Amino acid sequence: MEFTETEDRSTLRKYARDLAERELAPRATHWDEAEEFPQEAWDALKSAGLFGVTVGEDYGGMGMADVEAAIVLEELARADVSSAILAQLIFNGPPRAIEHLGNQALKDRWLPMAASGEGLFCIGITEPDAGSAANLMRSHLTDDGGGGYRLNAYKNYVTGGHKASACLVWTRFPGGDGAKGVGAVVVDLTAPGVSIAGTHKKMGLRACTEAELAFDDVRIEADDVLLAGNPIDTEAFKTLLAHLNHERCGNAAMCLGAAQGALEYAIRYMNERIIGGRPLADLQGLQWKIADMATQLDAARLLLTRAVTMAGPHGTPPALETAMAKAASNLAAKFVCDEAIQLLGGYGYSREYPVERAYRDIRGLCIGAGTVEVQRNYIGTNLLRGRTPAGGAWRNPLV
Ligand SMILES: Cc1cc2nc3c(=O)[nH]c(=O)nc-3n(C[C@H](O)[C@H](O)[C@H](O)COP(=O)(O)OP(=O)(O)OC[C@H]3O[C@@H](n4cnc5c(N)ncnc54)[C@H](O)[C@@H]3O)c2cc1C
Repeated sequence: MEFTETEDRSTLRKYARDLAERELAPRATHWDEAEEFPQEAWDALKSAGLFGVTVGEDYGGMGMADVEAAIVLEELARADVSSAILAQLIFNGPPRAIEHLGNQALKDRWLPMAASGEGLFCIGITEPDAGSAANLMRSHLTDDGGGGYRLNAYKNYVTGGHKASACLVWTRFPGGDGAKGVGAVVVDLTAPGVSIAGTHKKMGLRACTEAELAFDDVRIEADDVLLAGNPIDTEAFKTLLAHLNHERCGNAAMCLGAAQGALEYAIRYMNERIIGGRPLADLQGLQWKIADMATQLDAARLLLTRAVTMAGPHGTPPALETAMAKAASNLAAKFVCDEAIQLLGGYGYSREYPVERAYRDIRGLCIGAGTVEVQRNYIGTNLLRGRTPAGGAWRNPLV
């Protein structure tokens, strides 16, 4: 693994960081307090050309990989996670799935819009009675003749669903049962039969909320099918689950960015805050907190670097390494942001200081894109079956 960032990646990081500090950081508290969509962040990302990071060059993007996506997301989230999520939805959401798995008509229709930032995309997997167990979804398609379908679905917790142009909907194809026959279609959210049933009031990520979307007999053309589910197997469902590894790595990157911002804020604060004639930075008990925070954060960052590096220029991050990176980044961010609040004392608990917002924001990331528990299930069961993550130190303990 290479630990020095290439010049190109370092330039990209600086570009994203400068934009985040200039356009996002000064407005993040207002967006959070007002629960207002971060339109200025959207406009700034669009005019900086940053929405095109992972979209292919044929469609107006830069065709970069998960490594670059993680760099940009980390830097944006350092200033404001709600704004970073807008980029995450394009870098690692439906456009990425369309480019990797979709037909030419889907690519021509949606990818230029994604790269230019003309439209937002959202993903509808979760339902009121099917979250971690997505295979229990009720959403289904019925044949409508001529290769088309009718979609009936109620999707819950769709990030940005009230603002998006299109939604990637996971649904069961005719004849399927459980995970068998689950595939995905891309739905134009202006289509007849689509409605926004509500939006959620949340603890954090308040500028980029989640919507409930109802699909009532929505016509789906054959070209709108991203991946058809075959009622006799679970292959399409497995492909969709594997493709979520892009989103999980993006989620991990945002956690690291937000926690990095909180850690740096705490370090500055400890050097400025004088108690009994000495800065907080002089107190050994607090120095140990900083040591633990930085160590956990960098350990998680190394796991993420492994997962995104293994994806290569055009691939998908591997499942086991991604699950480890996501769980570690979620937990490290929770620990770091919590300790940052503690280090600032009463001010840390105040909404006038940014560390409590970072904590509230990353808390949601520990649930979205597969909860920490679901990642642990995957890691634990795979290790116990003899699968090993990449790295020379590991060998299969069962042989
Ligand atoms: C900020 C945020 C953004 C989101 N964005 C989207 C989105 O854009 N699109 C979308 O489709 N969904 C989205 N979600 C929904 C998210 O994917 C689900 O909330 C998540 O999968 C958990 O499902 P659930 O809420 O139904 O909880 P449940 O599945 O009911 O789980 C409840 C608790 O039980 C645990 N649990 C469940 N099963 C197991 C098990 N087998 N072993 C151990 N523990 C278990 C869970 O980890 C959790 O702690 C988002 C959620 C959040 C918070």
